[in-house]
Amino acid sequence: NEYPLAVQHLQTAVFQARERGFLGESILGSKFNFDIEIFKGAGAFVCGESTALVLSIEGKRGFPKAMPRPRTTEVGLWGKPTLLNNVKTYANIPLILKNGWRWLAYRGTETSKGTAVFSLTGKVVNSGLIEVEMGTRLREIIYDIGGGIPGGRAFKAVQTGGPSGGCLPAELLDMPVDFDSLTAAGSMMGSGGMVVMDQDTCMVDVARYFLDFTQRESCGQCVPCRVGTKQMYAILDRITKSRGKKGDIELLLELGRSIKETSICALGQSAPNPVLSTIRYFRDEYE
Ligand code: SF4
Repeated sequence: NEYPLAVQHLQTAVFQARERGFLGESILGSKFNFDIEIFKGAGAFVCGESTALVLSIEGKRGFPKAMPRPRTTEVGLWGKPTLLNNVKTYANIPLILKNGWRWLAYRGTETSKGTAVFSLTGKVVNSGLIEVEMGTRLREIIYDIGGGIPGGRAFKAVQTGGPSGGCLPAELLDMPVDFDSLTAAGSMMGSGGMVVMDQDTCMVDVARYFLDFTQRESCGQCVPCRVGTKQMYAILDRITKSRGKKGDIELLLELGRSIKETSICALGQSAPNPVLSTIRYFRDEYE
C-alpha cells in the first residue's frame, strides 16, 4: 500500500504481458498456464518478513513466527507450498536456466554471487535504481555512478540496507559491497536502500530518525523489540535535545545488542543497526 506508483506500473506490465499472450491460459499457444496477481498489503514494514507476509495476504494480522515449522516451501500461503523471494531472485532464474549457473557465479565475490540492485538516494548527484556487480566498491557506486556529492560538499556517511541498515563512514568507501563485508561493517544488504549523507548531516539525528520509524513499525509481539526500541528512541531524542546523560551511550549499546539478540524477527534483529553503527563510527557526535 506504500507503493502506489510501483503498483500502477506493475499492473500495466501485467496487463501488457497478458495482452501479448505471455501470461494466462495456453501461453503462446502451449498447454502451459501461468498468471500473476498483484496483492496490496496493509502497509506494514513487518510484512516484509516471510511469515508475516503470508498471514497478511490471507487477510490476517502480520505477526512473524519464530522458526516456522513446517517451512513455507512445504506449507505456506493457504496451506500450499509457497516460494517467498524477491522479484530480483525470480528475474535471475530464466537467465540461469538459459546461461547455466556459471554465468551467474562468474560475477561477484567468493561468497556473494551475481549482481545487487540498489536504490541510490540522498545527497548524491544522480539518484535512482542501479544494478552493480557484487563486490563493487562504495566509492565507485557513490562517485562514478552517483556523480558524487552535490555542490562540492564532503561525503560523510552512507546508509545501506533500508531503515534498519548501518551508516558507514568515509574510511570504508573502498569496501567491496557484498553480504559479508556489509555485515562485518555493522550494516546489511537488506532491502537494497543506499542513502548518501554529506558533511552537514548530524548522525545522532539520523539514528533517531530511522529508529523512530522502526519502533513505530514493531508488531509488538516480543518485548525486546516493542519496549527496547522505544527506550532507545527516548534516549536518542533526549540527546538531540541537549539533555543527554552520562551513561546514555553505554545504555544504547547494551540495549541495541540485547534487542538484536533476543527479537523474534529481522525487524527487531536489525532495528538497532543505525544506532550501533553511528556510535561505532561517529561516537564523538554523541559525546
Ligand atoms: Fe514483532 Fe519486533 Fe518481535 Fe519482529 S522483532 S516479531 S516486529 S515485536
